Amino acid sequence: MEVNIIGAGLAGCEAGYYLAKRNIKVKLYDIKPQKFTVAHSNINFAELVCSNSLKNLQISNAAGLLKQELRELNSLIMESADYTKVPSGNALSVNRDDFAEYITNKIKSQSNIEIICKEITDIDTSKPTIICTGPLTTEKLSNNIAIKIGQDYLHFFDASAPIVNRASIDMDFAYFASRYDKGEADYLNCPMNKEQYEAFYNELVNAKRVILKEFEDEKVFEGCMPVEVMAKRGFKSLLFGPLKPVGLKDPKTGKASYAVLQLRSENVENTMYNLVGFQTNLLYSEQSRVFSMIPALHNAEFIKYGVMHKNIFINAPIVLNEHYQVKAFPNIFITGQLSGVEGYIESVSSGLVSAINMLKYLNNENLIAFPSTTCIGALSNYLTHADYKYFQPMNANWGIIKEIELIGKDKIKNKELQANYALNQIKEYKNNHNI
Ligand SMILES: Cc1cc2nc3c(=O)[nH]c(=O)nc-3n(C[C@H](O)[C@H](O)[C@H](O)COP(=O)(O)OP(=O)(O)OC[C@H]3O[C@@H](n4cnc5c(N)ncnc54)[C@H](O)[C@@H]3O)c2cc1C
Repeated sequence: MEVNIIGAGLAGCEAGYYLAKRNIKVKLYDIKPQKFTVAHSNINFAELVCSNSLKNLQISNAAGLLKQELRELNSLIMESADYTKVPSGNALSVNRDDFAEYITNKIKSQSNIEIICKEITDIDTSKPTIICTGPLTTEKLSNNIAIKIGQDYLHFFDASAPIVNRASIDMDFAYFASRYDKGEADYLNCPMNKEQYEAFYNELVNAKRVILKEFEDEKVFEGCMPVEVMAKRGFKSLLFGPLKPVGLKDPKTGKASYAVLQLRSENVENTMYNLVGFQTNLLYSEQSRVFSMIPALHNAEFIKYGVMHKNIFINAPIVLNEHYQVKAFPNIFITGQLSGVEGYIESVSSGLVSAINMLKYLNNENLIAFPSTTCIGALSNYLTHADYKYFQPMNANWGIIKEIELIGKDKIKNKELQANYALNQIKEYKNNHNI
């Protein structure tokens, strides 16, 4: 049995290694080292294109839990990360060159893996294939993927608004209503009076922004103007845009407020809310500082910050099932950042799940989805159950992980209990499903 893997990045190396170890012949394609995308430069595979940090180490943090779940499943990428780590407090950071070299050597040592340096420009749907060419997938291939899955279901950049934890919104300053009371009261409205708006506005227009990469000039993001740029057009511009107060009466006063931010639920469990129209390029620290000036958000926990960057990804809720398999082409799995997960270890997680399921698919066995009480399972659950109309990539966070019932009041202890529960589930799945 043979599988094509397109892209030897974080997801591709994890998937290829898993399959090769289980006696599947793998053809691993990458354009490297003949050509590089705009962000890649190392001749080795599994290159970390930006930060050398794989985020938090503690299992009470969702990123820490995800890494531990991956270790339980013998992830190659985690093995390399632990082997090449450098001191960085509570985070797991690596020497990026040693990290990529370790993984590349492991891949090269597998007799079942044939490495082919080639730019793939189209997908042969008759052959079992895992596509994991990442957020900077080359143009011809991305165009052909779009033709196969549907032009509307491939996105070329991520311009997303921040997402906050529902439990951290102060409901003394927020209310549910839809504009003009039309339809269901799905929006959570966060009003501001004139003084509050003035203070907010002044901080917003002066807040620090992320410097875009040279391949990401502002033109790329036309059509989704960052809130801070819109604000600079005039003091009242937001009042006709994302802070429009018309048609919304504050139940406390029975009157319209000066400005109202609307929040919309991001998942079916209603645990995460999106700041509608607040796509932004502010530094993360500035987002929490400035957006927390909105009274209902004064204690907001930011599950995901707004970002604007070049990022090619599919509309997973339409295209994929929970196994990272393309619904319309069962031979094809799409994984890594291209599948709509966001981040290094999230890409690894999706790569591993796709490989586990590719093997089951080849053996005519039932495919598996990890429980959404685990971080690995929560990511694939999110990808396939998010609202396709507003789909944006997602990282590991507690907002997407299904909560178990816990009685304690200590937040960190509860997270640790939940994390241990998730790790036991991963162990059970590993044994019971022959992973
Ligand atoms: C500029 C930038 C900075 C980022 N910074 C961070 C960060 O700091 N932290 C974080 O957690 N995440 C970051 N990400 C997001 C993401 O986690 C990484 O991009 C991650 O490497 C994605 O893993 P992947 O396996 O999906 O893709 P990649 O690791 O990018 O691997 C894709 C591979 O496919 C190859 N390829 C592309 N097109 C073709 C083709 N047509 N044919 C053959 N091969 C091809 C590439 O050469 C590459 O080796 C960043 C993304 C970008 C673009």
